[in-house]
Amino acid sequence: MIGLADCNNFFVSCERVFRPELAHKPVIVLSNNDGCAVALSNEAKALGFKRGDPFFKIKDRASAAGVTFFSGNHRLYGDMSARVMTTLRALSDDIEVYSIDEAFLNIHSETDDYAGLARYMAAKVRRDTGIPVSIGFAPTRTLAKIASRFAKKYPGYAGGCVIDTPEKTAKALTLTPVGDVWGIGRRLLKRLQIYGINTAMDLASLPQERIESIFNITGVRTWKELNGIPSIVPDNDSEHKTITSSRSFAKEVYTFEELHKAFAVFATIAAKKLREQKEHALEVEAFIATNRFRDNAPLYFNSCSVTLAESSDSTSEILKAALKALKRIFRPGLGYKKAGITISRIAHSPQPHIFSDIAKMEKMSKLMLTVDAINNSQHSSYAVKIASMGNGLEEISRKDHSSRLFTTRLEDIIEVHA
Ligand SMILES: [Mg+2]
Repeated sequence: MIGLADCNNFFVSCERVFRPELAHKPVIVLSNNDGCAVALSNEAKALGFKRGDPFFKIKDRASAAGVTFFSGNHRLYGDMSARVMTTLRALSDDIEVYSIDEAFLNIHSETDDYAGLARYMAAKVRRDTGIPVSIGFAPTRTLAKIASRFAKKYPGYAGGCVIDTPEKTAKALTLTPVGDVWGIGRRLLKRLQIYGINTAMDLASLPQERIESIFNITGVRTWKELNGIPSIVPDNDSEHKTITSSRSFAKEVYTFEELHKAFAVFATIAAKKLREQKEHALEVEAFIATNRFRDNAPLYFNSCSVTLAESSDSTSEILKAALKALKRIFRPGLGYKKAGITISRIAHSPQPHIFSDIAKMEKMSKLMLTVDAINNSQHSSYAVKIASMGNGLEEISRKDHSSRLFTTRLEDIIEVHA
């Protein structure tokens, strides 16, 4: 059995954690620059407002109806997401974060009460983070998605729904419009409608030969999943892939400023590697450690992860996240001997979120590629570099093997593990 946890009205729920008086009231969260509605509370939906409604069009009517508006605060949402994921991770053997408000849950030890488990997990996430979540368990990911939809739609499930028998599967599929099935995009939906396929049940009951003749591999997989045959597996390769850039310093480093410079180097190296692999990352971890070989000094090791609002391959975005993490773990007065960053949750394509400024993302990508091209054509990897790097690791690098090109080719001294 696989579980799917999906936060209810996620952005709205994040705002409500800090504005509890807005529970059961209509709330709308707006996109970048307050362009349009991107998240609505059930009460706002009941008033007839929809996702995508332009703000200027609905502003007066919605205000008159008592709707509270929020400009999207995606830093807050990213942080709340990390908290939800932490709780889910503690309650599962393994989770796969699927989006800012969704994760698949793997439970290795079998239980005969998945419904109880799902309700328990939903209640625990709610208590720990304030975020309401709907959890579905089923034999496949696609069915688990459907189960979580039922958990969300019908309060009687108390946040947890299980699809585990042929009867329950048939009932759930009959009640699910085919367009709501995971993986059925708008284009495929149109084709399905031409064939008179309106519910998930219509799709699931077609014979396999027919499915194979009308659909591509994705469609066939979805059909199998609806019939209880697991066919969509996470890309384990990228799931567990990380890039680390770290360094032991020649002497202890005491100030945040020096670490900042070192982190600029780490971010430059890791992000370049990411771009070479044509990949984007969603998580950046920073770690620092004091010298564990010195008996008279305090021993300190700490690490902290930051989730990016949107996946990125940009040096500056990765550095920004790394510094945010570093700020949380940096303790003044200690001499740091080793530090580094690890980037993870790596994916092949950028994963913009609802507030993403796509034009800006593309511009940034082009800029980074230009920087790489210039640096690749020069003897130094840092002909063009991020300003805060300064002279990088020069002062804190070991210089006792002068045959290595410390000052001109930093790759020579940095360990990169992929
Ligand atoms: Mg959701």
